[in-house]
Amino acid sequence: MLQSRIALITGSTSGIGLAVAEAMAEQGCHIVLNGFGDSDDIANIKKRLSGSYHVKVYHHPADVSKPEDVLAMVLYAQEVFGRIDILVNNAGVQHVSPIEDFSQAQWDRIIAINLSSVFHSVRAALPGMKERGFGRIINIASIHALVASPYKSAYVASKHGVAGLTKTIALESAQSGVTCNAICPGYVLTPLVKNQIADTAKARGLTEQQVMEDVLLGSQPTKQFTDVKDIAAMAVFLAGENASNVTGSLQVMDGGYIAV
Ligand code: NAD
Repeated sequence: MLQSRIALITGSTSGIGLAVAEAMAEQGCHIVLNGFGDSDDIANIKKRLSGSYHVKVYHHPADVSKPEDVLAMVLYAQEVFGRIDILVNNAGVQHVSPIEDFSQAQWDRIIAINLSSVFHSVRAALPGMKERGFGRIINIASIHALVASPYKSAYVASKHGVAGLTKTIALESAQSGVTCNAICPGYVLTPLVKNQIADTAKARGLTEQQVMEDVLLGSQPTKQFTDVKDIAAMAVFLAGENASNVTGSLQVMDGGYIAV
């Protein structure tokens, strides 16, 4: 379905990004991975994906909080493969704290990684996509692009920003063969969520078990975490030919979170 397409996926050494990279590789797509991690672990991911699916897999170590790194990563992908067909902006971080105690450094870091990096990567990759008349931009936003939770000021602001940016990019490229959509998952049990359980317990005065059951799954009527494979399948659909007229959309995968 994505045979011989080229995908650049930020934050794809872990969690949702890694699942998206694997699902796209399985469809025959060549991949540029990005994200932090142990060099042996990253080498193993490259080896596993290229060996299992017979596609080419590279890794660029950009720190997407830095605009110059984002530009270098886009140029690298264009250099090794000649183009980028699919850009998945997935890298994201979280910090949980009441706003009075939220440090300026954490605010700046979250806005840079979760929101500004999307602007910088799209700004660099879009001209080539428009020139070739094909492109798929998929931003991994969050249910927090649509609703807020306390103690996540920077995250909620950044994801609402991603929603607005997604729609703007969609409008600016509406007749060019390029689509831009966001996926908005509810809670997914990745390191990003596991690592916030202790801080949320502290901020809300709860036990970690209460955070899992009452705060995380408490807001999802299905009482289930969304599976990374299901998010990856949505990304594959959005990247494919059948999604050519899907643009500017926020694809919610939230176990009924916003239906309440
Ligand atoms: P994760 O912690 O498992 O993975 C994050 C990835 O981003 C890693 O590969 C990490 O190395 C990379 N990364 C972090 N900072 C980076 C930087 N400065 N430069 C480059 N790469 C960087 O997290 P995840 O849960 O898979 O989250 C992926 C995306 O999904 C994020 O944008 C997150 O906001 C979003 N999301 C997650 C959930 C959830 O419940 N886990 C829900 C909704 C949305």
